[in-house]
Amino acid sequence: MTTATTTDAARKDAQPSHPILEELGFPTDPDNLYTQTVGQMLKAADMIDLKHRVQIILAQPKNEVMVHFPVRMDDGHHRLFKGYRIQHNNALGPYKGGFRYHPDVHLDDVKSLAFLMTMKSALVRIPYGGGKGGVKCDPRSLSVGELERVTRRYCAAISNIIGPDQDIPAPDVGTNAQIMAWFADTYMVSGRHADNDALRVVTGKPVSFGGSLGREKATGQGVSDVLAEMLPGIGISIQGMTVTLLGFGNVNSWAGRILQDMGAKIVAVMDHTGAIRNDDGLDCHSLAAFSEANYGIRGYDKQPSITGTGTHASHGCEVISEEEFYQTKCDVFIPGALEQMIQPKQAAMIDCKVLAEAANAPCTPSGDRVLMDKGIEVIPAILANSGGVTVSYFEWLQNKSCVTWDAEQVDRELNRHMVVAARRAMAVRERYGCDLRTAAFGAALQHIGEVYKVRGIFP
Ligand code: NAD
Repeated sequence: MTTATTTDAARKDAQPSHPILEELGFPTDPDNLYTQTVGQMLKAADMIDLKHRVQIILAQPKNEVMVHFPVRMDDGHHRLFKGYRIQHNNALGPYKGGFRYHPDVHLDDVKSLAFLMTMKSALVRIPYGGGKGGVKCDPRSLSVGELERVTRRYCAAISNIIGPDQDIPAPDVGTNAQIMAWFADTYMVSGRHADNDALRVVTGKPVSFGGSLGREKATGQGVSDVLAEMLPGIGISIQGMTVTLLGFGNVNSWAGRILQDMGAKIVAVMDHTGAIRNDDGLDCHSLAAFSEANYGIRGYDKQPSITGTGTHASHGCEVISEEEFYQTKCDVFIPGALEQMIQPKQAAMIDCKVLAEAANAPCTPSGDRVLMDKGIEVIPAILANSGGVTVSYFEWLQNKSCVTWDAEQVDRELNRHMVVAARRAMAVRERYGCDLRTAAFGAALQHIGEVYKVRGIFP
């Protein structure tokens, strides 16, 4: 899912070097997302003096499963699909993490995302490990029927390694609540568990079918909760602050709507169809409705009649280039699209005080270094976007105990988890005097290290 070519200088700069990477024979490919993310973790592991045995366990996933399955297409021919399920670690509880449908799904990227899930669950202190999955396909090119058949066959192909107390998938890029419903139904009819238990095999389901209130907006809500907790300490007030959003799908359209409702001004948005700017503030409510109906934000500037729910102008925006988007001055920049989009070139253009990683691994290490040199505070993904897995956990808990939480309870509990996770990361930063990314990894690793210490390693 690398979207730009790394420059030669950046390649040299990003050469991974750590004794553990060498011991395990990792390829020295600076473009490899997995090596990059594990390298970041190892830096934090050294800082907190994490045992060598825990470092080597965490440097590789426990299980890597690749499946191929045929699906009948609408025109009658059969197409073979490639899917993955990576189970990174389950020291703290069942593997947990979404699955995505995207043409660029590759093994190392899914491994990275599974690894980040382990870190996220540990930082937020929910009783899960980390996993991730994906099917290499373009969901927009599939009919509804084809999408359903791909989902059911993918579920069947991995059904012997997942389960409500073993490995619990969820939505990610290109997947949604309807896909989770097909997935749950397929697992339920397999008869592996009683129906009420089998429902817990997946989270992010529609509310009518065991989903939790607040799950759809959870990741965007969590980003907003973390910003509300951290920005005052950085001298930024949410009321009146300016924000730019890279990506406007589930995560960022909700982050935009929630921050707008809290008083922020969303001045620029870019997705895969284009970029727009309005210095008076875009109305993310009407933009979200438009984007959903049109599969992107392209054409929104030609919609003068749309009225939003806030005081922000929904029209009067201008179409801007990718360069102009990155150069738009703002207080907070939120990358919430795909991995590895912020490379040195983009980082050099970004003009913000805080960058909150709503997407997973949106910055390359060399891009990150440029941001750091510019004095930009980066709130790392394992903290900023952990609201999604947290409300997934609430959904799983509700299914397990056959109760339904109201929206206020979900928001309250989510806020509590996000605030405590942010404080945990800040405490580690204060103790070690490191950057926030290393601190967040450090706080997660402290917990995992402690659990390995008391559990021991079999035999
Ligand atoms: P989504 O598919 O709903 O949205 C993705 C967005 O990225 C879309 O707006 C798309 O237009 C945009 N995009 C894709 N390619 C782009 C490009 N080249 N330039 C600009 N924009 C581009 O996905 P999502 O669920 O919002 O997830 C976004 C990120 O957040 C991913 O990294 C995902 O792993 C992460 N994440 C998602 C959740 C969740 O609950 N959905 C939770 C945690 C982390």
